[in-house]
Amino acid sequence: KAKDDGGNCCAVFVEEMYMHVQSQIELERNLREAIINRRIIPHFQPQIDPSDNSLTGLEALARWHDETKGMISPSEFIPVAESKGLIVELGSLILDQTCRQARDWVNVGFDFKHLSVNVSPIQLLQPDFVNVVRCALERYQLSGQHICLEVTESLFVEQDEGRIRAIFGKLKALGVSLSLDDFGSGYSSLGYLNRLPFDQLKVDRSFVMNVDKDVHNQKLLAGIVTLGQGLGLSIVAEGAETREEVECVAKIGCNSIQGYFHAKPMVAADIPQAVEAIFALGQKITKKRA
Ligand code: C2E
Ligand code: MG
Ligand code: MG
Ligand code: MG
Repeated sequence: KAKDDGGNCCAVFVEEMYMHVQSQIELERNLREAIINRRIIPHFQPQIDPSDNSLTGLEALARWHDETKGMISPSEFIPVAESKGLIVELGSLILDQTCRQARDWVNVGFDFKHLSVNVSPIQLLQPDFVNVVRCALERYQLSGQHICLEVTESLFVEQDEGRIRAIFGKLKALGVSLSLDDFGSGYSSLGYLNRLPFDQLKVDRSFVMNVDKDVHNQKLLAGIVTLGQGLGLSIVAEGAETREEVECVAKIGCNSIQGYFHAKPMVAADIPQAVEAIFALGQKITKKRA
């Protein structure tokens, strides 16, 4: 009897493993297809200056709409793309579409400041990455100032800092700005903040969450803002969801806020109107206070 159970248990385990492997293979195949057919597109989330509710920039966030599965989240497909050698293609696709959007907005006179694109370490370390960025800018006749590249601290794990510094130098020469994403969530070594030419620091959402109630987070956030601004960086707070969090983050002195309170990521077509509404709301509140 015991042997039977053991056998069953093992069979179930093997079957589950098999199903998992099958679904990963299917995901990989679908992802490959989606990239080829350009069915992954960037949505955009506004970054807002809390002093007047004006737009400081927008982040491009990859969205995959699958016909049968619906919306698939980047936290699901980016790791697959990274492990299956698809992230370089996917990254170029998002960069291309983002630059095209920047060109469209320049043409209609919508002042978006800059569009931020997430870059995976594997992508950034490709020998032709700088060239890919240069070509995307040229393709849409954009100056580098319109584009910001976001990297995470994971880039610095096991990487030669000299090599990264050389790549960053070439990117800065194109005029693009550089942002350190998810700051504080990973393996922070403060040294590279000073030694590498970052323009912006995005404070991880874990420090912004409940910051109005959590004194510990208030102190951490205030420290990060002092440190970052002392180094000449612009500070973006990620993931403020409530009015209380927004007010607290603003008081602490962050330069901009990107979070659901102001707007969720949305299709490009909806952006100008949403940004206008956020600004109008800010003006109303300011008037009320005055
Ligand atoms: P990220 O770069 O840190 O982007 C911010 C994430 O926080 C986005 O999740 C955004 O939708 C979410 N977010 C913004 N405001 C709030 C808020 O108030 N509350 C909460 N709970 N979440 C908020 P998303 O779009 O699911 O993307 C997840 C991650 O996937 C990104 O984190 C980024 O690391 C990666 N990713 C997305 N698009 C790309 C891409 O084109 N290339 C690469 N390499 N990675 C990407
Ligand atoms: Mg990001
Ligand atoms: Mg982030
Ligand atoms: Mg993140």
